[in-house]
Amino acid sequence: MQLCSIASSSSGNCIYVGTENTSLLIDVGISKKKIVAGLKEIGIDPNEINGILITHEHSDHIKSIGVISRAYSIPIYATKGTIEQIKNDKKLGDIKSELFIEIVADKGFVINDIFIEAFNISHDAAEPVCYNFLKGDKKISIATDLGCYNDYIKEKLKGTNILFIEANHDKKLLEVGPYPYFLKRRILSDLGHLSNEASGKLIADVLHTELKHIILGHLSKENNFPELAFESISLELKESDCEYLNDIKIAIANSDGFIKPVKL
Ligand SMILES: [Zn+2]
Ligand SMILES: [Zn+2]
Repeated sequence: MQLCSIASSSSGNCIYVGTENTSLLIDVGISKKKIVAGLKEIGIDPNEINGILITHEHSDHIKSIGVISRAYSIPIYATKGTIEQIKNDKKLGDIKSELFIEIVADKGFVINDIFIEAFNISHDAAEPVCYNFLKGDKKISIATDLGCYNDYIKEKLKGTNILFIEANHDKKLLEVGPYPYFLKRRILSDLGHLSNEASGKLIADVLHTELKHIILGHLSKENNFPELAFESISLELKESDCEYLNDIKIAIANSDGFIKPVKL
């Protein structure tokens, strides 16, 4: 299995997860042109995509769902609440209803050779989820857009080999930054986004010897920057006294969010 971040930031998200036989996109919150270019970069033809998995209906995750699904007729996997929101969003244009496949959190499903499990996250959307991807004894997890985490989330991320995790903002930068008060409150709330510090703590909680790659994503352009996210998270991990910290590779999504494929 491999994961490639095509784009990841507060302005647009799209991640590729695939095997030799299966190609999936998680969220399509950037233009079709950028998605096609990103896929080309890793040698994937958009016609090969077997499914689009949506985490939630915010525009940085679904912006081109209409255009992409009309161009390539790709099945769209999402929760009931998310599907309703997508259908009600007039900006997206018509999407054939037979393309929608309703999924349920904590109930696994299979696309070709990948077993997928959606899990609930705490975010201000209708029915948001994140995803685990399993093949054989390998596991990839994506955990973005969560305002807080609990034992349920920790349990879901347990044993993962590649963890794509949100490091959205630096709390201090956000507090003194240009965002209006209501937006600051939203981001900092339990239904908002994980700060660098919270993200570091969550990673420390799920560390294990087989966690080989950590990718920090969904960075805010206004309230974070890659070096700061990396430093804050490294600090949290050092405090956790993890003995095998040097074996773990940490990558960070820059402003475009493109990160070369990470393979297992
Ligand atoms: Zn969101
Ligand atoms: Zn988002």
